[in-house]
Amino acid sequence: MPETPTVKLNDGHHIPQLGYGVFKVPAEDTQRAVSEALEVGYRHIDTAAIYGNEEGVGAAIAASGLPRDELFITTKLWNDRHDGDEPRAAIAESLQKLGLEQVDLYLVHWPTPARDNYVHAWAQLVELRDAGLTRSIGVSNHLVPHLERIVAATGVAPAVNQIELHPAYQQRDITEWAAERDVRIESWGPLGQGKYDLFGAEPVAAAAEAHGKTPAQAVLRWHLQKGFIVFPKSVRRERLEENLDVFDFELTDDEMAAIDALEQPGGAGRVSAHPDEVN
Ligand code: NAD
Repeated sequence: MPETPTVKLNDGHHIPQLGYGVFKVPAEDTQRAVSEALEVGYRHIDTAAIYGNEEGVGAAIAASGLPRDELFITTKLWNDRHDGDEPRAAIAESLQKLGLEQVDLYLVHWPTPARDNYVHAWAQLVELRDAGLTRSIGVSNHLVPHLERIVAATGVAPAVNQIELHPAYQQRDITEWAAERDVRIESWGPLGQGKYDLFGAEPVAAAAEAHGKTPAQAVLRWHLQKGFIVFPKSVRRERLEENLDVFDFELTDDEMAAIDALEQPGGAGRVSAHPDEVN
């Protein structure tokens, strides 16, 4: 299986462009699922304090025997920990659960605008990075006004913004803002979380058929060719393998354009919560 390519972040570090996300993987299944992911070749794991499964991720890392520098581990600061010194306490707890001295990427999970303390949280993450507790820092679910504010306040642009993104919901205002500032986009829900018939959409089915691949592989390829970072979730070994096996074919410009055209107007393709409503 070809090696997963890496993407260079704006702080000079590299991230594997495809990883394994563990949202909704039950705590008791996480060690097994992550161990299988590492066995089949994943080296990038995306978790979060709120997922409640950092210990399982840590147990799988420890059991793998893989050198630390071959792994890329992301976790996230939860919404009720933006204030005061809370981010420092929160990352310490995450590191303890993960069994690590440093994560590779730490994200502010949601801006929670009603709490209006995400600028402070971001400034705290800059300090956590400078203290060596995380190598890179970024945000998640930040809209352009949130991004503008944190950069204006600190002068530090996030390495990534992790946002809901799939063919029906492409958030082009954010991806364009990010491209102009060398901020990488991580697509969460890259397969639309199975909440609409993405795999049955004609351009996806046609591209899959043309390349002898599955619709899920065609969609993941679309993300990769857009330059996005992805970490699809599955707890089934055959799907873990399938989702990683996307580096031996390329969608044509016409196939990419046809999948682009699946975007729903006015943001109607969103399948999960809106960042202004999560507080
Ligand atoms: P996803 O789009 O990856 O969809 C996952 C679903 O797709 C699974 O339930 C699985 O049944 C199905 N699936 C996976 N591989 C498949 C395949 N090959 N064929 C058919 N079906 C397949 O959605 P997600 O899990 O929500 O997103 C991926 C990751 O993004 C998460 O695990 C998490 O790490 C991250 N995430 C982040 C946020 C955030 O707020 N930052 C929110 C949601 C998810």
